[in-house]
Amino acid sequence: METKTPETFDDLKLSAITQRAIKRLGYEKPSPIQAKVIPWALQGYDVIGQARTGTGKTASFAIPILEQLDPLRTSRYPQALVLVPTRELAAQVHGEFVKLAYGCPTEVLEVAGGKHMTKQLRAFEGNVQVVVGTPGRVIDHINRGSLKLNNIWCVVLDEADRMLDIGFRPDIERILRRCPENRQTLLLSATLDDEVKRLAEKYLFEPVRVDCSQKDVSVDTIEQRYLTVSPDRKFDVLVELLTREKPPQTIIFCRTKLGTAKLHNQLEKVLPRIPELCDMRLSTIHGNMNQTQRDSVFKSLRSGSVQILVATDVVGRGIDVTTISHIVNYDLPDDVDDYVHRVGRTGRMGRDGIAFTFMFKGQGDCLTEIEQRINRQLVADPLAQDFGIAKKVISRLPAGDVVEGSVSEVNPVVEEKKRSLNPMRRKISARRRR
Ligand code: AMP
Repeated sequence: METKTPETFDDLKLSAITQRAIKRLGYEKPSPIQAKVIPWALQGYDVIGQARTGTGKTASFAIPILEQLDPLRTSRYPQALVLVPTRELAAQVHGEFVKLAYGCPTEVLEVAGGKHMTKQLRAFEGNVQVVVGTPGRVIDHINRGSLKLNNIWCVVLDEADRMLDIGFRPDIERILRRCPENRQTLLLSATLDDEVKRLAEKYLFEPVRVDCSQKDVSVDTIEQRYLTVSPDRKFDVLVELLTREKPPQTIIFCRTKLGTAKLHNQLEKVLPRIPELCDMRLSTIHGNMNQTQRDSVFKSLRSGSVQILVATDVVGRGIDVTTISHIVNYDLPDDVDDYVHRVGRTGRMGRDGIAFTFMFKGQGDCLTEIEQRINRQLVADPLAQDFGIAKKVISRLPAGDVVEGSVSEVNPVVEEKKRSLNPMRRKISARRRR
């Protein structure tokens, strides 16, 4: 199967109304994933598209769906269903659909958990054509009878790898089994591991495979560096890094909710006392926050009123703000795909971006794994080699003000010894002492 890759939106021969919506959004030409997916999807093929967020992948399925919706609305039931892993992504995908449907009376409904059920039930009584939702909430609506799948002709599995990671496989399969068999299925995924492939083999029919992963993963515009630090100096190095970079907008990723809250508190105390950073507004986002709180953080990030965001992976992954200039991996991510997703929050749609990854001595394997995945070497940032850093940061603070985790309260020799004992040995030695 061969098809010429379109270079302009005109080449895609879209309807005048879609062309107008695209123009209004200021999109000048199709992104690579759009240029590759849209022609096949418009012809009705099942497609596997390998691309991460930030590449324009949402429009790659939203445009062909909007183009093919039955304008006569011969059915009251929805025609397309988009499954996404998180509430944030549901909101973003819904937003993109609404913008691309500008000028059409298309009803797109977002059905994510954490949002009002009654409102969603009432909306289903109307004439919904496209449903965007998380698998759990979609199942809920199917079971209640509010969502009827009889007329679905297109199902999208967006960020399929992430949905499988989160454990949505049984829900996804349950939903797909209940959709009409002759439907079109579009699967978008940053990675195509065996689990994603198995899902595709089972539920897609002779799919066309489109690979935009290489280009995406080693996005040329994102500079990627690492800093080897010792645990007791990590915070100080971070402060020094922020001072040096003065980032227009940055996301600092931590591994746990607790770590996120702790770092936020530490920064809240220190930033106002550093002249270069005192004007920056700080915020945090993690899984313990309710939807309204999360929405408000996203809003301030988008409006530019927040410059530093401390986040965990799950929510951080859904952030689609094109102005993020810096990413800091304060804690290493759990796996390499998360690294790619974190770093992909910057350098969006071809803009410049820089990512810094903090690691400890002995975590070289993780670095190698990352480098193999992105097919590129990370550069060591000289900052971490400057042994005077911690002292410099402390000296900026008024006397008597000790930042948690700073050198003044930690003896590095003792700390190194403590770390060399694994938890079991630590327990044994504590028992011996008694
Ligand atoms: P996505 O990968 O779908 O999350 O899209 C990332 C961002 O790129 C979103 O803010 C989109 O509105 C924007 N976008 C999508 N397609 C294009 C395009 N062809 N040209 C410029 N921006 C785009």
